[in-house]
Amino acid sequence: MIVVVKKNQNEKQVQNLMNWIRDLGLDVHVSRGENSTIIGLVGDTSKVDIDLVRSLDIVESVTRVQEPYKNANRKFHPEDTIVDVAGHKFGGKHFQIIAGPCSVESEKQIIEVAEAVKKAGATLLRGGAFKPRTSPYSFQGLGLDGLKLLKKAKAETGMPIVTELMSERMLDEYEDVDVIQIGARNMQNFDLLKAVGRVDKPILLKRGISATIEEWLMSAEYVMSEGNQNVILCERGIRTFEPYTRNTLDLSAIPILKERTHLPVIVDPSHASGVARLVRPLSLASVGAGADGLIIEVHNDPPHALCDGAQSLRPEQFDEVVQSVRPLLPVVHKEMDV
Ligand code: PEP
Ligand code: MN
Repeated sequence: MIVVVKKNQNEKQVQNLMNWIRDLGLDVHVSRGENSTIIGLVGDTSKVDIDLVRSLDIVESVTRVQEPYKNANRKFHPEDTIVDVAGHKFGGKHFQIIAGPCSVESEKQIIEVAEAVKKAGATLLRGGAFKPRTSPYSFQGLGLDGLKLLKKAKAETGMPIVTELMSERMLDEYEDVDVIQIGARNMQNFDLLKAVGRVDKPILLKRGISATIEEWLMSAEYVMSEGNQNVILCERGIRTFEPYTRNTLDLSAIPILKERTHLPVIVDPSHASGVARLVRPLSLASVGAGADGLIIEVHNDPPHALCDGAQSLRPEQFDEVVQSVRPLLPVVHKEMDV
């Protein structure tokens, strides 16, 4: 971190600032020029409140040269992290497709969809049991019954299951869940992040609706700093001024994350667009940008879906998406398990 002190400052105040920095356990490198004094902070600056330093009268500017995330930072862990979900690997040369309905609605629905997406090439089954809905009057998910049905679909198809956890209180019920999803709305629910950081299961961490990449990585850091290093990041679109799509898929986040973190990155083209016919082009673009996988909403009867029908693919449309993704994978040096 570099602090530039304003011109002609009282030396005592400059010394006070340096002593305060040293008291935080950091080394100070000072360079005195004709026009300004520059203080370099050396060491773990993650504990320095950058806004506090910026607000000091004698300070002209503060620049971070070191990212505040450590565990997630590629600088300290140059190789890709491979997250293994029951033998299906995320990261490195691996490419996985997670598919299933937005929410679990009935036994028939989840089993039918699970069988269809498995046949098409999906390796993991998604399905919400506890749904974070904008309106309290909308379908909230089947809750524990939904979890039971997911487990049934897992038993019948052998597919590992991915489902959202909304509250730490429910954690004990997630024992048979293979991947815990933390939804966009909970990306900064820090107590929940810490709780899943103490769990020995992979975490699918979706990007917050208006979260910066750094805020997102800091959320991954919350999970990892508690011990759980198995975090998969999921770009699911961010809110912009564009009304033609539900969200705007931030494709550039993929290569940026690949530079900055060793964690696997997947894309959710369903929530990113909100439009079923956009799922295929956005899936292809995501593969081209270097994603390690996709998570796609599929429903056996989209017009009657209780949640997110407009963005859900029918099984045969999902099959087409997988078929068009496959030939692209060798171009980006990736491969699917099946
Ligand atoms: C979902 O996956 O169904 C979901 C609610 O996603 P997000 O948290 O990205 O909105
Ligand atoms: Mn959904």
